[in-house]
Amino acid sequence: TSSQRKPFVAGNWKMNGSDELVEAFSSKLASNQAVDIVICPPAVYLSKFSQAAFAIGAQNVSEFASGAHTGEVSLSMIAEAGCKYVILGHSERREAYYESNEVVARKVKAAIAAGLTPILCIGEPLEVRESGQVFDFVKAQLDAVAHECGAHYVKNSVIAYEPIWAIGTGKTASPEQAQEVHAFIRKELAALDVSAAASVRILYGGSVNAANAKELFAKIDIDGGLIGGASLKVEDFTTICQAA
Ligand code: PGA
Repeated sequence: TSSQRKPFVAGNWKMNGSDELVEAFSSKLASNQAVDIVICPPAVYLSKFSQAAFAIGAQNVSEFASGAHTGEVSLSMIAEAGCKYVILGHSERREAYYESNEVVARKVKAAIAAGLTPILCIGEPLEVRESGQVFDFVKAQLDAVAHECGAHYVKNSVIAYEPIWAIGTGKTASPEQAQEVHAFIRKELAALDVSAAASVRILYGGSVNAANAKELFAKIDIDGGLIGGASLKVEDFTTICQAA
């Protein structure tokens, strides 16, 4: 990262966790003045973190305010549960739950309007990388958000670049591969708002662990990480936070 940005590390528990894990993180994960730390557990656990030394985020939210949306949870509900952040557009939501660029963009807009900070996930599948279309793919994901929200989303969001082929596979992008895309993302955002692009945190996600975090976070445009599997063990996650 650059000294002009405070590093940011978020743990995405996905559909994992228990009261026991909530208790372990609440009692053992310390705050760290030098890093913004966020844990994103399943929604039912959000309010159980009320005493935690770190911030809390949801993994998804409805784009609608209330009403006949069985199974969904609203922005005002996650805010009442203590969330400051919400992960939006994770590739698992895009792929398994058919969230389009446009749906993700509407959620980003609604989250910002509700006073929450989106952690907007973007990133390409393997075939896109192999065909050399990474920048076009990522640009289309960003453009959809800019189209819906306007330039102001840049100063109100955190971005997570997560190449799909690196998620949960144990195969991380090399620091150079990640840095190349992060620099591209920052350049695209600078076309909307130069100063917000210089300060927006751009996280890398995809098989980050306690052993590889430091060399990824050493890259100038990699401002921290969005951590899946390695966010389920408080010792590993602590090591990753310390690497940022
Ligand atoms: P992983 O997941 O760290 O287990 O690869 C990252 C993510 O999906 O956010």
